[in-house]
Amino acid sequence: MNYKIVRLNTAAQQEIEHSVLIIYTGGTLGMAYDDDGALVPFNFGKILEKIPNLNNLNISITVISFPEPIDSSNINLQHWGDMAYIIFENYDTYDGFVVLHGTDTMAYSASMLSFMLKGLNKPVIFTGAQLPISAMRSDARENLMTSLEIAISKANGKPIVPEVCIFFNHLLLRGNRAKKVQSVHFDAFESENYPPLAESGIVIDYNYSAIRPYEEGKKLRYVNKLDKSVMVLKLFPGITQQVIHHSLSMEGLKGVVLETYGSGNSPSESWFIKEMEDAVDRGILILNVSQCNGGRVIQGRYQTSMDLKRVGVLSGADITTEAAITKMMFLLANEPDETEIKRRMMMPLAGEMSVLNQ
Ligand code: ASP
Repeated sequence: MNYKIVRLNTAAQQEIEHSVLIIYTGGTLGMAYDDDGALVPFNFGKILEKIPNLNNLNISITVISFPEPIDSSNINLQHWGDMAYIIFENYDTYDGFVVLHGTDTMAYSASMLSFMLKGLNKPVIFTGAQLPISAMRSDARENLMTSLEIAISKANGKPIVPEVCIFFNHLLLRGNRAKKVQSVHFDAFESENYPPLAESGIVIDYNYSAIRPYEEGKKLRYVNKLDKSVMVLKLFPGITQQVIHHSLSMEGLKGVVLETYGSGNSPSESWFIKEMEDAVDRGILILNVSQCNGGRVIQGRYQTSMDLKRVGVLSGADITTEAAITKMMFLLANEPDETEIKRRMMMPLAGEMSVLNQ
């Protein structure tokens, strides 16, 4: 990949204490209006003109830009591999990493990186903006400045947040717990089933008990094998057998994230349960996640989920669809044993779910 690298000296007068690598993938944050009023990717070499406050942070910043910054709706497996690779290659050189990314698929990318970066012990903070950096009322400055501050924050010389997160509009969320919930207002992300890792106001208030602690001696490994033979199947009242049957009969299909109602409920009609049973028998992994943002799947709580459990549909507990589908792509590619894949789908790999004894 042909990266563009920009080094910013934000601390000409002082001795530099911290270093951050920014990975610019695209999205609204890095856009500026051209002479014709169209949004085009912004030249990061000029970021100090847009955010002069960066000079006060005393951070050495390097920006690695995707050759063609993209709208995050175009993110694919190759881009995830590139992001993970850049972090892996530069891991020892920087205190932390900030990934500038469009908001549309940011929760998917943050989830995937939380699985791909095994043994991560430094902050990887995804952020973006609802308005481009060049816009008067842009949220880009605040989101970027605070993300940089979080990326270098340490306590007793150790990173405070050594995990993959999303920072947006004053909230720091665990990346694989976050969801985009707003396309217009500034509060674009939320995490219904896990508390924020920090809130920024006058100070950044860290929620230490929710943050995965730094672990001495951990080594970063990066795993970039992913399998895209997966799909999300969302139930709706009136869904026909034909839709279910064709979806589950797709050639090469290995895994399905089944978005059910409430606490994991589905139609109890016999054709539906039979389609599920047949798919499970053909070796297709089916994970039950809820269409509700908050709460959890409890298979067997209602009669309408009892049968799913009986035929071998797995419970996704309180995982988000974004984390479920990326975790499935990751596990299908990296875990050869089918029983082990099933076991690990129902257990946290990177803090993406909380499992209760059901
Ligand atoms: N469509 C844009 C993207 O996700 C929206 C944004 O940047 O927030 O890349």
